Amino acid sequence: MESINYLDWSLLVLHKLDSTYESSKKIDDLLENFNTLFVDNSTDFKRIFDSNKALSGIVLDLDEDAEEIVKFVRETNPKIPIFILTEEDSSKLSLQILKLVNIVMNVFEDSTSFLSGQLELEVEKYMSSIKPIFFGKLMDYTHKFKYPWHTPGHAGGLMFMTNPIGKMMLDFYGENTLRSDLSISVPELGSLLDDEGPVKDAESNSARVFSADKTYYILNGTSSVNQVIWKGRVTKDNLAFVDRNCHKSLNYGMVITEAIPMYMIPRRNSLGIIGPVKLEEFTKEYIDKIIQNNPKLTEEQKKQKIKMSALTNSTYDGLCYNVNKIKEALNNNVENLHFDEAWYAYAKFHPIYKNHYAMTESDNFIEHPPIFASHSTHKLLGAFSQASMLHVKDGTKDKVDFVVFDEAYLMYGSTSPQYSMIASLDVSTAMMDFCGDKLMDETILNAIHFRKRIAKLNKEYASFNEWFFSLWQPEKVLYNGTLIDFEDVPDKYLLEHQESWTLDSDNNWHGFNDIEKNYVMLDPIKLTLKCPGLNVNGKYDEIGIPATILSNYIIDRGVVNEKTDTYSLLFLHSIGTTVTKQEALIKVLMNFKKDFDNNTPLKDIFPDLVSSYPEKYYTKGLKDHCLDMHNYIKESKLLELMDKAFQVIPKQELTPAEASREVFRGNIEHLPLKDCMNRTAGVIVVPYPPGIPVLMGGERIDEASKSILNFLLAREEFERVFPGYFSDIHGIEAFNDEDGVRRFHTMVIKN
Ligand SMILES: *Cc1c(COP(=O)(O)O)cnc(C)c1O
Repeated sequence: MESINYLDWSLLVLHKLDSTYESSKKIDDLLENFNTLFVDNSTDFKRIFDSNKALSGIVLDLDEDAEEIVKFVRETNPKIPIFILTEEDSSKLSLQILKLVNIVMNVFEDSTSFLSGQLELEVEKYMSSIKPIFFGKLMDYTHKFKYPWHTPGHAGGLMFMTNPIGKMMLDFYGENTLRSDLSISVPELGSLLDDEGPVKDAESNSARVFSADKTYYILNGTSSVNQVIWKGRVTKDNLAFVDRNCHKSLNYGMVITEAIPMYMIPRRNSLGIIGPVKLEEFTKEYIDKIIQNNPKLTEEQKKQKIKMSALTNSTYDGLCYNVNKIKEALNNNVENLHFDEAWYAYAKFHPIYKNHYAMTESDNFIEHPPIFASHSTHKLLGAFSQASMLHVKDGTKDKVDFVVFDEAYLMYGSTSPQYSMIASLDVSTAMMDFCGDKLMDETILNAIHFRKRIAKLNKEYASFNEWFFSLWQPEKVLYNGTLIDFEDVPDKYLLEHQESWTLDSDNNWHGFNDIEKNYVMLDPIKLTLKCPGLNVNGKYDEIGIPATILSNYIIDRGVVNEKTDTYSLLFLHSIGTTVTKQEALIKVLMNFKKDFDNNTPLKDIFPDLVSSYPEKYYTKGLKDHCLDMHNYIKESKLLELMDKAFQVIPKQELTPAEASREVFRGNIEHLPLKDCMNRTAGVIVVPYPPGIPVLMGGERIDEASKSILNFLLAREEFERVFPGYFSDIHGIEAFNDEDGVRRFHTMVIKN
């Protein structure tokens, strides 16, 4: 297999047809040693430049278009060499352009072989300048064709050649994947755990690019990042202040550190969308109050400061906090601040997110404790699954002792890290460093186009008195002093004005009535699609489409969403989303509408569902089915029950760590949920949707927290009424009891 060679990539040459035979001949000689792509007009040039990233350089005639082309190239590629060919005097070129090009050459004056050599040097320089630190070294090493007498045992893929099944794997993944699967026995590549060599350099580079003081690569996902942060900073009986809207890995963080948690309660709107925690909850008064009112704490413990405060940023529906406001409100009253930014690693790269991410620069030198950010680089940037980053910004006064913190890191690191994963973190960093702002510009702009498309379609259908889907987004935006329809605001304005996306109680499209000024913004690239059925003011519509039905429909037709709530679905508009992909989504939504309006027989739409439960669904059409479920949700008050369930924080009988100890001692019972009154939960219970814990291990199910039980039992009943719509609830197992009835079961601590 060949190494990546600058000669494999092509020079893109814009050469007009009207040039003389003589000059064309010279150019052919000049470029003889290169792969080339010739175009004769600037439109084709731009099209190819945009779509082909395997370009090693640009060659242009000096003519009236040259300036424009040079600027166009430099917008997205600051480094690719640009060569200008001229037959006469180059005084036509402005100083500004001269600064942007590499070589201006006259093919009639110098020898073509000399010029060709210069081109080669520049191209080589470029190709090595864009090689990321670690990935570059990994490629170089792989191309040294050394015999591996070390782990991994497949030895660069040799093992797979001994066996037909292995051969299948080798053919599928290709030799490079296997030959670059190395181990720490290769000293040239450094070491992840010892923090040395190219791995260390790559991590330092990521720290610079993501504005952190220190960055760690973590190869077991943000689930581990979160635990490393907690393990490194929190210990037994420390007080923690945690977003209830947290990922389950934070619950495990509390278990392993034996911290005593207290919770922030995120708001919810009447669509069931999780909103931001109130800013007030970050003030000293509020925090003092929850500490003083916590019956679990001894007088000594009540004198402690909060050791760790953890918040999910952005929320699962794309609400991002103004981090500087939070720092200001906290006023250094907690010892560590942790932002779980699993879905949000790109924020640094576009000004629309200014101040709304953990590693942001502080306004006015606000004092702050050490700040930690968790990034699932694999979720919305380009890393392989499980490859994540942990970023630290040191406190203004309180400094992290990294020798101590490393101990926590080492506890979670494998001694056999996967080198391709490290490379993918390095590559993701380099990609964003190279032109992250431009990538984000395009991504946000495309998301804005999509948002406008849906808004327009919705209005077009409405003009025929027909329903359509909509997006959870501002209906009107303040533009030049007046509120105008979202779809009429110029793209560029929406792209450049954060305030277009900031939630405000005066322009309440979002359903959070008491939102603080300049506190929270909607991320333009997180698309929450609303189905008819329920409005932000909490009123049910006549017709309703439960999101779970729509989600099954689109998944069967090749469009997969990220998350499904009761009447809304989340789609991620990530980097690289194409118009074709957008159109496929719009088409499937329109098809759904057609099938709904025609009440197409359910057996044609969900054949598997109908054949599994014919007595329930055989005679139904899609519309009947949606309305049955919609009316059931309405009448059973499922959403109201959910709302009430999330308003209570149950009594903490045991801390998560104490509960976990009981679980592993086997001091537990598995009970049907209906029999769990006045019992203590053994493990965390998280219903999806909305993916927020209703119960943490150690919390008490009693009269005061009965609404949680009521909600879960209502979900159980829902699944009996609509067989086939079985939900995923972490901490709950559903199966048929001896009487043949399907019930939810959970683990509680023995009395
Ligand atoms: C996905 C997620 C995690 C866990 O990240 P992995 O990389 O999948 O381990 C942590 N926190 C939040 C908020 C998440 O959404």
